[in-house]
Amino acid sequence: MDIIVLVKQVPNTTDVKLDEKTGSLIREGLESILNPDDRHALEAAVQLKEATKGHVTVVSMGPPQAIEVLTEAIGMGVDQGILLSDTAFAGADTWATSSTLGKAIQQIGKFDLIICGRQAIDGDTAQIGPQVADYLHVPQVTYVAEIDNIDEKSVIVKRRLEDGYEMVESELPALLTVISEINKPRYPDVGKMIAACHEDASIKTWNAADIGVTVHEVGLAGSLTHVIKTYVPKFKRQGEIIEGDTKAVVRELIQKLGRSEGSTACKAVAAACRLEAS
Ligand SMILES: Cc1cc2nc3c(=O)[nH]c(=O)nc-3n(C[C@H](O)[C@H](O)[C@H](O)COP(=O)(O)OP(=O)(O)OC[C@H]3O[C@@H](n4cnc5c(N)ncnc54)[C@H](O)[C@@H]3O)c2cc1C
Repeated sequence: MDIIVLVKQVPNTTDVKLDEKTGSLIREGLESILNPDDRHALEAAVQLKEATKGHVTVVSMGPPQAIEVLTEAIGMGVDQGILLSDTAFAGADTWATSSTLGKAIQQIGKFDLIICGRQAIDGDTAQIGPQVADYLHVPQVTYVAEIDNIDEKSVIVKRRLEDGYEMVESELPALLTVISEINKPRYPDVGKMIAACHEDASIKTWNAADIGVTVHEVGLAGSLTHVIKTYVPKFKRQGEIIEGDTKAVVRELIQKLGRSEGSTACKAVAAACRLEAS
């Protein structure tokens, strides 16, 4: 079984801060890590490799330092890594990212399964998996919590819904996006990581020419969306906690609601409270 895993290197925070002047992400001082969901995607792939004597390729699009996450993936048991890195890929929106990853997968050739994390903690869109599946015209199953059964032709998975689970069968090749409850990822083997740093064959870097795309199809030029403005929302309303004896608190609340800028809704609530209190 040939499995491809897509991984992203992300800043080690969900509390992304923006430079108010430039509108860009403040990356200084932020450690970069393997996106948490992607660690579960790698574990799922390596478990399938062990069960089916398969082969796993990990792919990441990012700057040269993203090689770190590929090395970590090799440490977890992946066979080879491909880093898609080229200045032409910079500024890619989710569409350009997905189509570039899709092109690279076509370049790799045969695959039975692609596994992605559900969502990246920085971009947070959860669009890449579904868009890559669409680009490659393969079925997709998102929010996968368990791979129940797999053979050469099909896969049966349990996927999480808002209020439960559903079992889904898909023919292969297919793309799955996985959530953290699917498994407990293993620690990477440091020996394998060191070997990956010295073995030229296990991690390759491909640029735009290597995947047969022109600079107009990728990065900012190939993006369908463009950011007009980035800003941190300002909260105009402020909460207030009234403390003290319950009756006094209710009385004060009624007064405050009754006074609040003539709002009909607030006055109605105040009237209801007065009725309740009497
Ligand atoms: C207009 C615009 C401009 C942008 N410019 C830049 C920029 O200049 N630099 C920049 O870093 N980002 C840029 N981005 C953000 C970038 O497009 C997204 O981070 C990227 O498309 C992934 O989306 P996401 O983070 O929401 O991933 P999600 O869709 O939430 O990720 C889901 C899964 O897809 C896979 N995945 C996601 N990204 C990658 C990847 N790069 N390689 C391999 N697998 C991946 C992983 O398995 C991940 O768990 C831009 C976005 C927009 C809209």
